[in-house]
Amino acid sequence: MPKSQNPQPVSGMVMPRFGEVPTFMRLPIERDPAKLDIALCGVPFDGGTTNRPGARHGPREIRNMSSFMRRVHHVSKIAPYELCRVGDHGDCPVNPIDLHDSLARIEEFYTRLHDAGAAPLTAGGDHLISLPILRAIARERPVGLIHFDAHSDTGDTYFGGEKYTHGTPFRRAVEEGLIDPKRVIQIGIRGSMYERDEKDWALSVGIRMVHIEEYFALGPEAVIAEARRIVGEGPAYVSFDVDGLDPVYAPGTGTPEIGGYSTAEAQQMIRGLAGLDLVGGDVVEVAPPFDPSGNTALVGATMMFEILCVLASAVHRRKARAEAAQPVEADGN
Ligand code: MN
Ligand code: MN
Repeated sequence: MPKSQNPQPVSGMVMPRFGEVPTFMRLPIERDPAKLDIALCGVPFDGGTTNRPGARHGPREIRNMSSFMRRVHHVSKIAPYELCRVGDHGDCPVNPIDLHDSLARIEEFYTRLHDAGAAPLTAGGDHLISLPILRAIARERPVGLIHFDAHSDTGDTYFGGEKYTHGTPFRRAVEEGLIDPKRVIQIGIRGSMYERDEKDWALSVGIRMVHIEEYFALGPEAVIAEARRIVGEGPAYVSFDVDGLDPVYAPGTGTPEIGGYSTAEAQQMIRGLAGLDLVGGDVVEVAPPFDPSGNTALVGATMMFEILCVLASAVHRRKARAEAAQPVEADGN
């Protein structure tokens, strides 16, 4: 598709980047998923939070800080808006006083996107939102997962039986057949535990857990080589919890854990996902009430742009393959 026909961000050369209504990456709002290859969405929901709340305010602040993003990636030179039709698809309607109703609404919103053929890239929200997103986009087959986080998020229940929290989404996703545990890698795991055996379940189903100690021993390049080996060639989803970063870089989050990787290392890792068959992604747990400088929202927006660049390449490759496979239509008659 020629560049001029795709939606383009408002250039900072035309309207200064502190001006205009803040949308994701300064793109036009596009509510019709059929007009998008990649939909940038917000899910302003933090009802799955078990500790400090606030991630419901993430999408609005990430939109604001995403005005710092320009068109072209400075390393890969990818301009995602040349490869794909990308727009701000708005926020998913949620019900802040009813968790189960919210899960249903999120699944419905993403099912509409998925049915229209648009790949989602989401700003959360707490990490529970990844579950209803996966219910929508992985219902035909399980996907692989590259999961950046200080926490495994594979707990069973909280508070004597609650199965749906931001500490449990990937256990539910494995149980529901939405992710293939043998194609899941978790990067940056650390922090004190409730129980000695709390990681046993995840390991028993074959999830590859890279604790932060192993991460620092191997380095980002080797860890991403391992991620590529684990995920392989099949469809894969990227989930980036900002608490995987050291709280020095991302203090505005509900469950900080010291001793994480840096923003530069995370960027290097996301760039290393180029070539994988990505079908979507999210950046979660940005909690603006704990982010007085706004820097964590800037980190969230920048990680979204990093993911957008590798996702746009994957979507573009799939489109090109699909077009090549189309039989040539007879002209006129
Ligand atoms: Mn998480
Ligand atoms: Mn976490």
